[in-house]
Amino acid sequence: MKSAVHRCRDVEHGRGQAASGAETGTSCLQVEQRIPISKDVITASTASAMWFIRDVCGIVCAIITWLLVLYAEFVVLFVMLLPSKNLTYSIINGTLFNTLAFLALASHLRAMCTDPGAVPKGNATKEYIESLQLKPGQVVYKCPKCCSIKPDRAHHCSVCKRCIRKMDHHCPWVNNCVGENNQKYFVLFTMYIALISLHALVMVVFHFLYCFEDDWTKCSSFSPPATVILLILLCFEGLLFLIFTSVMFGTQVHSICTDETGIERLKGETGKWGKVPCWEAMQTAFGGPFSLSWCSPFSELSCRKGPADHISIPQGEIIKEDIIEIPLA
Ligand SMILES: [Zn+2]
Ligand SMILES: [Zn+2]
Repeated sequence: MKSAVHRCRDVEHGRGQAASGAETGTSCLQVEQRIPISKDVITASTASAMWFIRDVCGIVCAIITWLLVLYAEFVVLFVMLLPSKNLTYSIINGTLFNTLAFLALASHLRAMCTDPGAVPKGNATKEYIESLQLKPGQVVYKCPKCCSIKPDRAHHCSVCKRCIRKMDHHCPWVNNCVGENNQKYFVLFTMYIALISLHALVMVVFHFLYCFEDDWTKCSSFSPPATVILLILLCFEGLLFLIFTSVMFGTQVHSICTDETGIERLKGETGKWGKVPCWEAMQTAFGGPFSLSWCSPFSELSCRKGPADHISIPQGEIIKEDIIEIPLA
Protein backbone atom coordinates (compact mmCIF):
# COMPACT_ATOMS: atom_id res chain seq x y z
CA MET A 1 0.00 0.00 0.00
CA LYS A 2 1.36 3.37 -0.98
CA SER A 3 -0.40 5.50 1.59
CA ALA A 4 1.38 8.68 0.46
CA VAL A 5 -0.39 8.57 -2.86
CA HIS A 6 -3.74 7.36 -1.56
CA ARG A 7 -6.32 9.64 -2.90
CA CYS A 8 -9.88 8.82 -3.58
CA ARG A 9 -12.16 10.18 -6.18
CA ASP A 10 -15.86 9.85 -6.51
CA VAL A 11 -17.01 7.78 -9.44
CA GLU A 12 -20.80 7.89 -9.56
CA HIS A 13 -22.17 4.42 -9.83
CA GLY A 14 -25.09 3.59 -12.08
CA ARG A 15 -24.91 6.45 -14.51
CA GLY A 16 -21.33 5.55 -15.28
CA GLN A 17 -20.22 9.13 -14.83
CA ALA A 18 -16.98 10.08 -13.13
CA ALA A 19 -17.11 13.33 -11.24
CA SER A 20 -13.98 14.92 -12.62
CA GLY A 21 -11.46 16.09 -10.08
CA ALA A 22 -13.94 16.09 -7.17
CA GLU A 23 -11.79 14.67 -4.43
CA THR A 24 -13.83 13.42 -1.53
CA GLY A 25 -11.26 12.81 1.12
CA THR A 26 -13.84 12.33 3.86
CA SER A 27 -15.54 9.38 2.17
CA CYS A 28 -12.34 7.33 1.87
CA LEU A 29 -12.92 3.70 2.77
CA GLN A 30 -10.93 1.86 5.38
CA VAL A 31 -8.38 -0.50 3.85
CA GLU A 32 -10.29 -3.55 5.08
CA GLN A 33 -13.52 -2.21 3.53
CA ARG A 34 -11.99 -2.04 0.07
CA ILE A 35 -13.11 -4.68 -2.37
CA PRO A 36 -10.56 -5.14 -5.16
CA ILE A 37 -11.84 -5.66 -8.69
CA SER A 38 -12.34 -9.34 -9.33
CA LYS A 39 -9.75 -10.78 -11.67
CA ASP A 40 -12.61 -11.93 -13.92
CA VAL A 41 -13.75 -8.37 -14.62
CA ILE A 42 -10.64 -7.41 -16.56
CA THR A 43 -9.67 -9.92 -19.18
CA ALA A 44 -6.29 -10.52 -20.75
CA SER A 45 -5.43 -8.24 -23.61
CA THR A 46 -3.68 -10.18 -26.29
CA ALA A 47 -5.89 -13.19 -26.83
CA SER A 48 -4.53 -13.94 -30.28
CA ALA A 49 -1.39 -11.83 -30.66
CA MET A 50 2.02 -13.50 -30.58
CA TRP A 51 3.68 -13.09 -27.20
CA PHE A 52 7.46 -12.90 -26.90
CA ILE A 53 9.56 -11.09 -24.28
CA ARG A 54 12.56 -9.25 -25.72
CA ASP A 55 14.88 -9.83 -22.75
CA VAL A 56 18.50 -10.73 -23.62
CA CYS A 57 19.08 -12.74 -20.42
CA GLY A 58 15.83 -14.68 -20.93
CA ILE A 59 16.55 -15.39 -24.61
CA VAL A 60 20.07 -16.65 -23.75
CA CYS A 61 18.66 -18.89 -20.95
CA ALA A 62 15.95 -20.24 -23.30
CA ILE A 63 18.58 -21.05 -25.97
CA ILE A 64 20.77 -22.78 -23.31
CA THR A 65 17.73 -24.88 -22.30
CA TRP A 66 17.28 -26.05 -25.90
CA LEU A 67 21.01 -26.75 -26.33
CA LEU A 68 21.06 -28.86 -23.12
CA VAL A 69 18.11 -30.94 -24.35
CA LEU A 70 19.79 -31.33 -27.77
CA TYR A 71 23.06 -32.41 -26.07
CA ALA A 72 21.18 -35.10 -24.12
CA GLU A 73 19.47 -36.14 -27.35
CA PHE A 74 22.87 -36.45 -29.09
CA VAL A 75 24.49 -38.55 -26.33
CA VAL A 76 21.45 -40.81 -25.94
CA LEU A 77 21.20 -41.45 -29.67
CA PHE A 78 24.80 -41.53 -30.90
CA VAL A 79 26.68 -42.77 -27.84
CA MET A 80 24.20 -45.15 -26.26
CA LEU A 81 21.37 -46.33 -28.53
CA LEU A 82 22.73 -46.51 -32.09
CA PRO A 83 25.90 -48.53 -31.22
CA SER A 84 23.82 -50.90 -29.06
CA LYS A 85 23.52 -54.47 -30.35
CA ASN A 86 20.06 -54.90 -28.86
CA LEU A 87 17.67 -53.44 -31.46
CA THR A 88 14.51 -53.79 -29.34
CA TYR A 89 16.19 -51.96 -26.43
CA SER A 90 17.28 -49.16 -28.79
CA ILE A 91 13.88 -48.78 -30.47
CA ILE A 92 11.86 -48.75 -27.22
CA ASN A 93 14.18 -46.36 -25.39
CA GLY A 94 14.76 -44.19 -28.47
CA THR A 95 11.02 -43.75 -29.06
CA LEU A 96 10.32 -43.03 -25.39
CA PHE A 97 13.18 -40.56 -24.97
CA ASN A 98 12.46 -38.71 -28.23
CA THR A 99 8.73 -38.45 -27.49
CA LEU A 100 9.39 -37.03 -24.00
CA ALA A 101 12.06 -34.64 -25.33
CA PHE A 102 9.70 -33.44 -28.07
CA LEU A 103 6.91 -32.84 -25.51
CA ALA A 104 9.38 -31.00 -23.23
CA LEU A 105 10.48 -28.66 -26.03
CA ALA A 106 6.88 -28.14 -27.21
CA SER A 107 5.86 -27.26 -23.62
CA HIS A 108 8.81 -24.87 -23.44
CA LEU A 109 7.70 -23.11 -26.62
CA ARG A 110 4.10 -22.88 -25.42
CA ALA A 111 5.19 -21.54 -22.00
CA MET A 112 7.44 -18.97 -23.71
CA CYS A 113 5.07 -17.79 -26.44
CA THR A 114 1.76 -17.78 -24.52
CA ASP A 115 0.50 -14.56 -22.97
CA PRO A 116 0.73 -15.42 -19.24
CA GLY A 117 -2.32 -13.26 -18.53
CA ALA A 118 -1.20 -9.70 -19.14
CA VAL A 119 -3.60 -6.96 -18.16
CA PRO A 120 -4.28 -4.50 -21.03
CA LYS A 121 -1.61 -1.81 -20.93
CA GLY A 122 -2.69 1.79 -20.33
CA ASN A 123 -6.36 1.00 -19.65
CA ALA A 124 -6.45 3.10 -16.47
CA THR A 125 -8.63 5.71 -18.13
CA LYS A 126 -11.79 7.39 -16.85
CA GLU A 127 -13.79 5.96 -19.75
CA TYR A 128 -12.67 2.41 -19.05
CA ILE A 129 -13.36 2.61 -15.30
CA GLU A 130 -16.87 3.90 -16.06
CA SER A 131 -17.48 1.01 -18.42
CA LEU A 132 -16.73 -1.48 -15.61
CA GLN A 133 -19.89 -0.31 -13.71
CA LEU A 134 -18.38 -0.95 -10.31
CA LYS A 135 -20.38 -1.47 -7.14
CA PRO A 136 -20.11 0.64 -3.96
CA GLY A 137 -17.12 -0.34 -1.83
CA GLN A 138 -15.10 -1.49 -4.81
CA VAL A 139 -11.73 0.01 -5.41
CA VAL A 140 -9.66 0.48 -8.55
CA TYR A 141 -5.89 0.09 -8.24
CA LYS A 142 -3.79 1.63 -11.00
CA CYS A 143 -0.34 0.23 -11.68
CA PRO A 144 1.93 3.30 -11.77
CA LYS A 145 4.43 1.45 -13.99
CA CYS A 146 2.28 0.22 -16.87
CA CYS A 147 -0.77 2.45 -16.23
CA SER A 148 -3.18 -0.46 -16.23
CA ILE A 149 -5.98 -1.27 -13.84
CA LYS A 150 -4.78 -4.06 -11.60
CA PRO A 151 -7.41 -6.73 -11.03
CA ASP A 152 -7.25 -8.77 -7.85
CA ARG A 153 -4.19 -11.09 -7.67
CA ALA A 154 -2.33 -9.36 -10.53
CA HIS A 155 1.30 -8.27 -10.06
CA HIS A 156 3.61 -6.11 -12.12
CA CYS A 157 6.61 -7.85 -13.68
CA SER A 158 9.58 -5.60 -14.27
CA VAL A 159 10.98 -7.87 -17.01
CA CYS A 160 7.75 -8.23 -18.99
CA LYS A 161 6.90 -4.59 -18.11
CA ARG A 162 3.28 -5.64 -17.68
CA CYS A 163 0.85 -6.53 -14.93
CA ILE A 164 0.27 -10.30 -15.02
CA ARG A 165 -2.83 -12.01 -13.66
CA LYS A 166 -2.02 -14.60 -10.96
CA MET A 167 1.70 -14.10 -11.61
CA ASP A 168 3.70 -16.85 -9.93
CA HIS A 169 7.22 -15.77 -10.90
CA HIS A 170 9.25 -14.66 -13.91
CA CYS A 171 11.22 -17.62 -15.21
CA PRO A 172 14.27 -16.76 -17.34
CA TRP A 173 14.51 -20.42 -18.51
CA VAL A 174 11.23 -20.01 -20.39
CA ASN A 175 11.85 -16.28 -20.92
CA ASN A 176 8.37 -15.46 -19.65
CA CYS A 177 6.26 -14.94 -16.58
CA VAL A 178 4.43 -17.93 -15.21
CA GLY A 179 0.85 -16.76 -14.80
CA GLU A 180 -2.76 -17.75 -15.10
CA ASN A 181 -2.68 -18.60 -18.82
CA ASN A 182 0.61 -20.49 -19.20
CA GLN A 183 1.08 -22.25 -15.86
CA LYS A 184 -0.07 -25.54 -17.39
CA TYR A 185 2.66 -25.39 -20.05
CA PHE A 186 5.28 -24.52 -17.43
CA VAL A 187 4.19 -27.46 -15.23
CA LEU A 188 4.35 -29.77 -18.27
CA PHE A 189 7.79 -28.41 -19.18
CA THR A 190 9.18 -29.17 -15.69
CA MET A 191 7.49 -32.59 -15.70
CA TYR A 192 8.86 -33.67 -19.10
CA ILE A 193 12.37 -32.36 -18.32
CA ALA A 194 12.32 -34.33 -15.04
CA LEU A 195 11.17 -37.45 -16.92
CA ILE A 196 13.82 -37.25 -19.68
CA SER A 197 16.49 -36.57 -17.03
CA LEU A 198 15.44 -39.69 -15.11
CA HIS A 199 15.27 -41.75 -18.30
CA ALA A 200 18.72 -40.55 -19.44
CA LEU A 201 20.20 -41.39 -16.00
CA VAL A 202 18.77 -44.93 -16.09
CA MET A 203 20.14 -45.43 -19.62
CA VAL A 204 23.60 -44.13 -18.59
CA VAL A 205 23.71 -46.65 -15.70
CA PHE A 206 22.71 -49.52 -18.04
CA HIS A 207 25.26 -48.39 -20.62
CA PHE A 208 28.09 -48.31 -18.08
CA LEU A 209 27.17 -51.82 -16.92
CA TYR A 210 27.03 -53.01 -20.53
CA CYS A 211 30.43 -51.43 -21.34
CA PHE A 212 32.08 -52.92 -18.24
CA GLU A 213 30.86 -56.39 -19.18
CA ASP A 214 31.60 -56.00 -22.87
CA ASP A 215 34.58 -54.65 -24.71
CA TRP A 216 34.88 -50.84 -24.16
CA THR A 217 35.97 -50.29 -27.75
CA LYS A 218 32.77 -51.89 -29.06
CA CYS A 219 30.20 -50.29 -26.77
CA SER A 220 30.34 -46.88 -28.46
CA SER A 221 31.31 -45.45 -31.81
CA PHE A 222 33.45 -42.89 -29.94
CA SER A 223 36.81 -43.61 -28.25
CA PRO A 224 36.55 -44.92 -24.65
CA PRO A 225 37.77 -41.62 -23.05
CA ALA A 226 35.34 -39.55 -25.18
CA THR A 227 32.50 -41.94 -24.33
CA VAL A 228 33.20 -41.67 -20.60
CA ILE A 229 33.38 -37.86 -20.71
CA LEU A 230 30.13 -37.57 -22.74
CA LEU A 231 28.34 -39.98 -20.38
CA ILE A 232 29.60 -38.28 -17.21
CA LEU A 233 28.51 -34.88 -18.54
CA LEU A 234 25.07 -36.29 -19.35
CA CYS A 235 24.94 -37.86 -15.89
CA PHE A 236 25.76 -34.51 -14.28
CA GLU A 237 23.22 -32.67 -16.44
CA GLY A 238 20.53 -35.29 -15.80
CA LEU A 239 21.03 -35.28 -12.05
CA LEU A 240 21.04 -31.47 -11.82
CA PHE A 241 17.91 -31.05 -13.92
CA LEU A 242 16.10 -33.98 -12.31
CA ILE A 243 16.45 -32.33 -8.89
CA PHE A 244 15.73 -28.79 -10.11
CA THR A 245 12.68 -29.61 -12.25
CA SER A 246 11.20 -32.11 -9.75
CA VAL A 247 11.28 -29.47 -7.02
CA MET A 248 9.81 -26.90 -9.43
CA PHE A 249 7.09 -29.33 -10.54
CA GLY A 250 6.17 -30.10 -6.92
CA THR A 251 6.11 -26.41 -6.00
CA GLN A 252 3.91 -25.53 -8.97
CA VAL A 253 1.38 -28.32 -8.33
CA HIS A 254 1.30 -27.28 -4.66
CA SER A 255 0.69 -23.65 -5.74
CA ILE A 256 -2.21 -24.69 -7.96
CA CYS A 257 -3.68 -27.01 -5.31
CA THR A 258 -3.55 -24.40 -2.56
CA ASP A 259 -4.73 -21.65 -4.96
CA GLU A 260 -1.82 -19.46 -3.94
CA THR A 261 0.91 -18.14 -6.25
CA GLY A 262 4.62 -17.92 -5.38
CA ILE A 263 4.44 -14.12 -5.13
CA GLU A 264 1.38 -14.22 -2.86
CA ARG A 265 3.19 -16.64 -0.55
CA LEU A 266 6.29 -14.41 -0.52
CA LYS A 267 4.31 -11.24 0.16
CA GLY A 268 2.07 -12.93 2.72
CA GLU A 269 -1.04 -12.01 0.72
CA THR A 270 -2.70 -15.31 1.52
CA GLY A 271 -6.34 -15.72 2.34
CA LYS A 272 -7.53 -12.44 0.83
CA TRP A 273 -9.66 -14.22 -1.74
CA GLY A 274 -12.09 -17.11 -1.69
CA LYS A 275 -9.88 -20.12 -2.31
CA VAL A 276 -11.18 -22.84 -4.59
CA PRO A 277 -10.80 -26.53 -3.69
CA CYS A 278 -7.69 -28.35 -4.93
CA TRP A 279 -9.32 -30.44 -7.64
CA GLU A 280 -11.31 -27.48 -9.00
CA ALA A 281 -8.13 -25.37 -9.10
CA MET A 282 -6.32 -28.15 -10.98
CA GLN A 283 -9.14 -28.33 -13.53
CA THR A 284 -9.04 -24.57 -14.03
CA ALA A 285 -5.25 -24.54 -14.45
CA PHE A 286 -5.21 -27.49 -16.85
CA GLY A 287 -8.23 -26.40 -18.88
CA GLY A 288 -11.08 -28.77 -18.04
CA PRO A 289 -11.96 -32.12 -16.48
CA PHE A 290 -9.18 -34.69 -16.12
CA SER A 291 -8.21 -36.24 -19.44
CA LEU A 292 -5.13 -37.00 -21.52
CA SER A 293 -5.18 -33.39 -22.75
CA TRP A 294 -3.81 -32.39 -19.32
CA CYS A 295 -0.48 -33.85 -20.46
CA SER A 296 -0.59 -32.24 -23.90
CA PRO A 297 1.15 -28.92 -24.51
CA PHE A 298 -0.95 -28.60 -27.70
CA SER A 299 -4.41 -28.47 -26.08
CA GLU A 300 -5.80 -24.99 -25.57
CA LEU A 301 -7.12 -23.70 -22.28
CA SER A 302 -10.60 -23.24 -23.75
CA CYS A 303 -12.19 -22.17 -20.47
CA ARG A 304 -9.96 -19.10 -20.40
CA LYS A 305 -11.86 -17.07 -22.99
CA GLY A 306 -13.42 -14.21 -21.06
CA PRO A 307 -16.07 -11.76 -22.17
CA ALA A 308 -14.78 -10.11 -25.32
CA ASP A 309 -16.26 -6.67 -24.67
CA HIS A 310 -13.43 -5.65 -22.32
CA ILE A 311 -10.74 -6.52 -24.85
CA SER A 312 -10.63 -3.15 -26.53
CA ILE A 313 -7.97 -0.58 -27.22
CA PRO A 314 -7.87 1.78 -24.23
CA GLN A 315 -9.10 5.28 -25.03
CA GLY A 316 -8.88 8.54 -23.15
CA GLU A 317 -6.39 9.98 -20.74
CA ILE A 318 -4.69 7.94 -18.01
CA ILE A 319 -6.03 8.81 -14.56
CA LYS A 320 -3.61 10.50 -12.15
CA GLU A 321 -4.71 8.71 -8.98
CA ASP A 322 -3.29 5.32 -8.01
CA ILE A 323 -6.42 4.32 -6.11
CA ILE A 324 -10.04 5.16 -6.88
CA GLU A 325 -12.77 4.14 -4.47
CA ILE A 326 -16.47 3.77 -5.05
CA PRO A 327 -18.12 5.15 -1.87
CA LEU A 328 -20.30 2.80 0.15
CA ALA A 329 -23.38 5.04 0.13
ZN1 LIG B 1 1.92 -2.94 -14.11
ZN1 LIG C 1 7.67 -11.41 -16.42
